[in-house]
Amino acid sequence: MRNRLHKQKIKLATLLAALVTASVVSTLIVLLISSYHSQKESLVHTSLSLNYSKSKNLSSTIDSLFKNMRSSLENTANYLGTGEERSAEDIQLQLEILQSTSRYFNSLSWVDETGVVQHIAPISVGLKGQTVTSGPTKEALSSRKPSLSPPYYAASGRLIVLMSQPIYDKNGNYKGIIGGSIYLQEKNILNEIVGNNEIDSIGSYYYVIGPKGDLLFHPDKQRLGEVVSANPIVSKLAKGKSGMEIIENTKGVPMLAAYTTVPEIGWGVVQQTPVSSVNVMLMDHTKKLILYTLAPFIMLLLFSVFIARKLASPFMNLANLVNRLSTGETISIPKKHSHWNREVDLLTKSVIIAIQTVQKNTHLLKRDAYNDQLTGLANRRSLDETLQSWSKDNRTYSIIVLDIDHFKSVNDTYGHQAGDEVLKHLGVIVSGKVRSEDRCFRFGGEEFVVLLPNTTASEAFIIAEDIRAAVEHTISPIGKAITISLGIAEFPVHAESHEELFRAADRALYESKTSGRNRTTCISDKIDSH
Ligand code: GH3
Ligand code: MG
Ligand code: MG
Repeated sequence: MRNRLHKQKIKLATLLAALVTASVVSTLIVLLISSYHSQKESLVHTSLSLNYSKSKNLSSTIDSLFKNMRSSLENTANYLGTGEERSAEDIQLQLEILQSTSRYFNSLSWVDETGVVQHIAPISVGLKGQTVTSGPTKEALSSRKPSLSPPYYAASGRLIVLMSQPIYDKNGNYKGIIGGSIYLQEKNILNEIVGNNEIDSIGSYYYVIGPKGDLLFHPDKQRLGEVVSANPIVSKLAKGKSGMEIIENTKGVPMLAAYTTVPEIGWGVVQQTPVSSVNVMLMDHTKKLILYTLAPFIMLLLFSVFIARKLASPFMNLANLVNRLSTGETISIPKKHSHWNREVDLLTKSVIIAIQTVQKNTHLLKRDAYNDQLTGLANRRSLDETLQSWSKDNRTYSIIVLDIDHFKSVNDTYGHQAGDEVLKHLGVIVSGKVRSEDRCFRFGGEEFVVLLPNTTASEAFIIAEDIRAAVEHTISPIGKAITISLGIAEFPVHAESHEELFRAADRALYESKTSGRNRTTCISDKIDSH
């Protein structure tokens, strides 16, 4: 309930810790966002460039491989066409040596101008003596020019590329072609270079497409031969363009793709990395950034909590000091005043000055509240409190009430000022005549009261007479002695309550007045409580 009524207060340390956290977190967020964007841009750019250089390397490797194949075929065609007459065994041997040592082609054949397969290496292919009537071999034969077929499926189900070179004899007569078949999916140099494409750990891979957009090499062997015309890159490659861009692959996965052509043969190489791999790296980077920020952040947090505590503790001490002041406790001022923090230092000094002033004023107020300003004697409030405390202690005592005789005429004759002086004069005499345990009060006007603890009325009478005689025989400020009348009563002999006792003493005083003044009367009977 109390908590609901009083709003929860925030500690300085909590406030500072919250501020530090908020500023670090907001800085971190800004840092993360900007770093995320620049990192992403740079990672995308790096990945694309890397892919581009990989695909370019692969393209030029394929290009130089095909050039080498071509020159090897050219040499063979020259050798076969322009050399002197050779035996069939010789030619067969020659083709076999070339086929097996170069490993460019899976088979090498000499098809004469009529389409009959004259020689084929290795012999195991088994086409020797057959006549070619259609297909890429037939086309190459008819063209009489060096040619490279687009990849095609042979009757055996193999995906094949045929490279051919026309053979002319030394008289320029056409002697058919020498054809080298490259089985794309079987052992040969091309397959060794391009055929081992697999998806790497970050999902990066390449594929090679033929002139019609058909997949020649791809990590997914199932897809070989598939025409991927929907892919925007394929049409660009078909136009002989190279470049890099973000595309979606056939499965709808965004890819960072770079592509280059192999111009001689019209093929294209595409190297691509999933965009998600960049995101993985980005996450990694972000985690590291947070980790690196964490240690200094914790240090800063601890430091600020430490500083906040250091700052708050003098305030707490001052607050406690001021609280103690309100309980009326006398406060000893702390000795060490100066503090390293300017505000704390100033506040401490101000609070100390304020406490000192309050204590001084309290002292003065107390004095004024319980003392008569004119005579310096205790006042009526003080009398009431004294009687209350004595009543608690069940003390017995006597009371003397005394009043100046004809004081009004003193005022009238000598002036009010002189009257005041007379009052002070009387105060000095009364307090000088009582015992140390007795208490003197100015009850009001020109009436004084003396309380005498553990004193009988007759003992009090002696003291009262002593006072009266002293007053009578002392010159007062008006140049002559004044006289006083006194009344005495004893508690609890003459009354059961303090008020009644006071009335009894007052009555005794009245008796003194009426019986001639300048005398002391002790109340004779116990006062009637009614
Ligand atoms: P009695 O002998 O019957 O006591 O006569 P009295 O003149 O003393 O009595 P009364 O009560 O008629 O007059 C008291 C006077 O005391 C009236 C008032 O002006 C004067 N007085 C009361 N207080 C003060 C004070 O503080 N200073 C001065 N100068 N006079 C005071
Ligand atoms: Mg009077
Ligand atoms: Mg009087």
